[in-house]
Amino acid sequence: MSNQKPSTIAVWAGEENPLAFGAAQVPIVQSAPFAYDDMDEWAAAALGQAPGYIYSRNTNPTVGVFEEKCRILEGGEKAIAFASGMAAISDTLLTHLYPGDRIVSIKDTYGGTSRIFLDLLPRFGIEVDLIETSDGDAIEAAIGKGCKLVYLETPTNPTLKIIDLKRAIAAARQQGAITVVDNTFATPINQKPLAIGADMVLHSATKYLGGHDDAMGGVLIGRQDLVQAVYEHREICGAVLSAFSAYLLLRGMKTLDLRVRKQNETGLAVAQFLKGHPRVESVFYPGLESHDKHDIAKTQMAGFGGMLSFSIDGDFDALKKFVGHLHYVHRAASLGSVNTLIGPPSVTSHVECSAEQRAALGISETLLRYSCGVEDAEDLITQLDEALAAL
Ligand SMILES: *Cc1c(COP(=O)(O)O)cnc(C)c1O
Repeated sequence: MSNQKPSTIAVWAGEENPLAFGAAQVPIVQSAPFAYDDMDEWAAAALGQAPGYIYSRNTNPTVGVFEEKCRILEGGEKAIAFASGMAAISDTLLTHLYPGDRIVSIKDTYGGTSRIFLDLLPRFGIEVDLIETSDGDAIEAAIGKGCKLVYLETPTNPTLKIIDLKRAIAAARQQGAITVVDNTFATPINQKPLAIGADMVLHSATKYLGGHDDAMGGVLIGRQDLVQAVYEHREICGAVLSAFSAYLLLRGMKTLDLRVRKQNETGLAVAQFLKGHPRVESVFYPGLESHDKHDIAKTQMAGFGGMLSFSIDGDFDALKKFVGHLHYVHRAASLGSVNTLIGPPSVTSHVECSAEQRAALGISETLLRYSCGVEDAEDLITQLDEALAAL
């Protein structure tokens, strides 16, 4: 299956073998335990000596198909699913970091992730070094001081900063550090961190993988030994994906390639429109030639994605007026859905941060994050044009 193109993998991976009852689509196996008539068979499955399911906090058939699809799409050895993206992130960090360890990351990680770095990890005696995201030299130097784990995210949320993955991963390798990449924004259609040498990649599956804003989930994919260690932690800590959510995510993933290709086109068209508009102050989109890391984005991304952000010329009242004028967008916190979504970071990606922390990250109060859906690009642009004219 791994030789196939992403669109084929997204439809078929994990589903090549006959499904239970001859079902043509993955059944929702809504069972907490799995029953055995034979004690020896039960014991063999429980001890991992024979295949078989025991309890859905460990493994579940519906969740297993989702994991396999993600594994093949990202090109990893093992994948495990979680109740949410934050569960994937926290379990991965808490599995691999011990008191006295040092972790290097960037200032612009997702808001929830940055709270783990700032509040949770220091409590366990872990040294956290957060570097200026756009400063490749500083990232390399911080890694060069020695660390256990390097945690990267590119493009970032909400200002679409780009990290040179090849360079950061090479620096981490030299130190023998584990690299983890949050690939939520790019998706495996646009970016394959494992192919660049990362050890693990993770997603908020709530976003593009599911793509319909109807299910929460997370997934971690990568090196067998490293992901297996997180699996054992997840089994104890319990933040597992439910079978029903796995079903919804699987249903969404069948169109992942279609959706992301369309969103790549729309993202570029919307960014170009905004870039040329006199009432728009700045536009952040890695596909624009004016983006400071456009050249790096071009080398590591197959498409630039459907996420962008921009700030309008005016104050927060102008922002409220502008946002209120838009039709066919949800004013909501998520991203990566078939519906277009808009929102300021103060109530979306960085709701967990204070106004001062946002300002320190260069997130202005008139910045808007825009997640292109699969609507017609011209319709979206016409609406934006009308809302800007109303200012
Ligand atoms: C949403 C998001 C997360 C957190 O995922 P949840 O599914 O909401 O827990 C992590 N990283 C990025 C980049 C995100 O956008």
